[in-house]
Amino acid sequence: MPETALQLAARVGRGQLGPAEPAAQSLARIRASDDRLHAFLSLREDAPERASRLGRSAFLGLPLAGVPVAIKDNLNLVGTVTSCGSRMLANYRSPYTATVVERLERAGAVVVGKTNLDEFAMGSSTENSAFGATRNPWDLGRVPGGSSGGSAAAVAGGQVPLALGSDTGGSVRLPAAFCGVLGFKPTYGRLSRYGLVAFASSLDQVGVLARSSADLAAALDVMCGIDPLDSTSIDHPPSFTAALDLGISGLRVGWIRQALRGNHPAVERAMATVQQVLEAGGARFGEADLPTLEAAVPAYYLIADSEASSNLARYDGMLYGLRSGGSDYSAVMAESRAEGFGQEVKRRVLMGTYALSSGYYDAYYSKAMRVRRLIARDFAAAFGAYDLLLCPTAAEPAFPIGERSADPLAMYRTDVYTVGISLAGLPALSLPAGYAQVDGKQLPVGIQLIAPALRDELILAVSQHFERVTEGRFFGIAPGFA
Ligand code: GLN
Repeated sequence: MPETALQLAARVGRGQLGPAEPAAQSLARIRASDDRLHAFLSLREDAPERASRLGRSAFLGLPLAGVPVAIKDNLNLVGTVTSCGSRMLANYRSPYTATVVERLERAGAVVVGKTNLDEFAMGSSTENSAFGATRNPWDLGRVPGGSSGGSAAAVAGGQVPLALGSDTGGSVRLPAAFCGVLGFKPTYGRLSRYGLVAFASSLDQVGVLARSSADLAAALDVMCGIDPLDSTSIDHPPSFTAALDLGISGLRVGWIRQALRGNHPAVERAMATVQQVLEAGGARFGEADLPTLEAAVPAYYLIADSEASSNLARYDGMLYGLRSGGSDYSAVMAESRAEGFGQEVKRRVLMGTYALSSGYYDAYYSKAMRVRRLIARDFAAAFGAYDLLLCPTAAEPAFPIGERSADPLAMYRTDVYTVGISLAGLPALSLPAGYAQVDGKQLPVGIQLIAPALRDELILAVSQHFERVTEGRFFGIAPGFA
């Protein structure tokens, strides 16, 4: 059983283990398992040499000394290809490094590779990658969730203890739930977006996937905080690790009423488990009414696609990436976009352009923005009565590869419990809390813990309590990859 990030960091940070060792072991595990998972798009083969070259002493006392990490391939790391899972950027090399990645490296972490994703992070299954689907380590016939499916599979498949993803409408939380790992999306602004390739800028947040609450907290502590290169980043002191032992006594917890029905029986059992564990720890439970959440999916897809249609205009065949033939500007642009983008990305750009076009703007985009404000208001009201809100991450466990690819609405509905939280900019964690038995396979399910804006730390305290009481029974590496 591979060690946690903090166990590795303790040994490297004290000089008991060479800084190249964990990265070398991680790369060996990736090579042994990635033909089954396809979690990675590229490996940093020289990661161990880079760590050795820095020397043992460079890592002494660092919080993440020598910890191998994987990063989603929409995060820039200088000199590496950042493809975003798209033919458009298949040969694009980053000229700079994302702030969150730079901060991880400064804390001693060693990037071992870039993970697979739905093209430009648009999707819920990682099937929309131009480079092939990632598979769920718990059942290779099922999706890992998306769009950070590569990062989730890498953590659940024991390839790395820690990975970065991005979450616009659930892309860290959903794959975390489907793969049985922790997946955290902070309050919008707590992690810098500088160097994260933009999908929908008012929603995009970097998120973390891990197998232990303490590992998650350590990564957040080193990454969070204001960044002059991202004007939406927030100056707020890092105290995730300090929050782990706050306890939960007296905590007021509300189940979101709109998410109580229509869930898979295993999801219902996981809900009961979480309630039991938290009640035994002194939390009190009730129900919270958030009626406007019913409109979250259409509002989210209108807003996200509108922003995407603007953000993706930069891929015109001139500035970045793929350029296809044509004798004038519009021909080059049309050809490059026709060839470079996959079907889902084209659908999003078309929908977003339509929603923003004059004559439809009020009917679609403005209306969706009004819904967004109402959802934020419903959350604010609910947090008047509760410290923490709960709902499943998804209504069901991971679905079979191919099941929803021909039906975009079925795919979009997978996000029913995650997108409202994103529209409100709130922090949320997908906590692994149970298993379903489906066709003879064990499949993980996750429950979301949602806190008010900037109360991210509270979530870590609850997660740590749950992890301790359940002795990590729902956390860990998928059978067959341990
Ligand atoms: N599934 C959602 C979408 O396709 C969310 C994606 C994300 O969070 N990046 O837009």
